[in-house]
Amino acid sequence: MSSHTVTASSSLPLDTDVLVVGAGPAGLTLATALVGRGQRVIVVDRLAEGANTSRAAVVHARTLEVLEPLGVVAELVALGLHARRFTIRDRDRILVPIDFDGLPTRYPYTLMVSQAVTESVLLRRLKALGGEVLRPRTLVGLAQDEAGAVATFDDGTRLRARYVVGADGMHSTVRESAGIAFSGGSYGESFVLADVRLAGAVPLDEVILYFSGAGMTVVAPLPDGVHRIVATVDDAPEHPDAAYVHALLDARGPAHARAVVQEVLWGSRFRVHHRVADAYRSGRVLLAGDAAHVHSPAGGQGMNAGILDAMRLADALIEALAGNPDALDLYGAERRPIAQAVVALADRLTRLATVGPALRAGRNLLLSTLAALPIFRRKLAWQLSGLVYR
Ligand SMILES: Cc1cc2nc3c(=O)[nH]c(=O)nc-3n(C[C@H](O)[C@H](O)[C@H](O)COP(=O)(O)OP(=O)(O)OC[C@H]3O[C@@H](n4cnc5c(N)ncnc54)[C@H](O)[C@@H]3O)c2cc1C
Repeated sequence: MSSHTVTASSSLPLDTDVLVVGAGPAGLTLATALVGRGQRVIVVDRLAEGANTSRAAVVHARTLEVLEPLGVVAELVALGLHARRFTIRDRDRILVPIDFDGLPTRYPYTLMVSQAVTESVLLRRLKALGGEVLRPRTLVGLAQDEAGAVATFDDGTRLRARYVVGADGMHSTVRESAGIAFSGGSYGESFVLADVRLAGAVPLDEVILYFSGAGMTVVAPLPDGVHRIVATVDDAPEHPDAAYVHALLDARGPAHARAVVQEVLWGSRFRVHHRVADAYRSGRVLLAGDAAHVHSPAGGQGMNAGILDAMRLADALIEALAGNPDALDLYGAERRPIAQAVVALADRLTRLATVGPALRAGRNLLLSTLAALPIFRRKLAWQLSGLVYR
């Protein structure tokens, strides 16, 4: 174990180099990357234990490439399902078929794995390197000076850090304490989410995005014969049951060879915002993951973008700690436009998916014509897999 590493303990030291607030995918990735490179890091989370709900289920090829130095990829790849194909469909008609098979990467597929599994693999690695998450511990205040920042927690304890990273999700206390605005808005419709068992001719290695005037619907395979259904609806029920999900698929999914929802294993709903922080840095404070950007799950980019932020920020922090704080501005200059592009792509997909009946035939013709061009399919595959950001 490195002498710089914080060991498992529920008590808080007086100071550290980097305080990471939030042990979601972004915070765990950042902490593991920093601890693995011998840095002094404290991670706190307000939850007594990690959330075990599914949430994001998609890990893209580029994310796996970037995670390689952490030593977690072999385990993740073994635990997930490899979806080699992505199609956009209007009922039974395939509008755009994308094969990841030909991509020049060690991971020519979308890895489908529950967020709870991704987080537990990262946490195990962090602990193996000698790190720990101090929990439950809630950040309630943050004050900065020239040399660093002082964080105050709900039990009144304080910690001085040279840098503080807000990886504390959409409602980030760190972002608010630093006075950074979160510009954007919310979508009118809500999202329904269900992990189900399906019967019928449902592909097991393909993610399908159904375009429909009523709202877009994703049917994606997860390990153990489970399918994840995500759909935009006007007013999602808190606990979608089998009949509800079945009706959705009946109205928007295949018209022939219909899938039958046998069981809902877990269901939820959520509202989606599209917002990007006005800045990723304010002095000694930095933002990563959902604290910095939130967008529609269309394209499955949310958690992936947060993990890529974290790996980039780890490099920048190591440079800053070695005496070059300007590296921290480059982090924001590089990652913030990418978040804006992801928000714009998700927006375009949503608009295209939900055009009214008058425009539907034209849209389908346009998409099928474009999809006949190998260069169009290749461009989309690079964008969806994240390889475009290499
Ligand atoms: C129901 C649901 C379904 C989703 N489905 C998808 C999907 O299909 N695809 C997709 O891409 N994304 C999805 N997401 C979004 C995805 O889960 C997030 O993008 C991802 O979790 C962001 O990771 P993060 O590490 O930035 O933040 P989070 O995972 O939000 O982690 C933030 C952590 O900070 C902690 N924290 C917050 N405030 C404090 C504080 N003051 N002090 C200490 N700790 C604090 C929290 O306890 C939490 O553990 C979904 C989210 C939800 C809720």
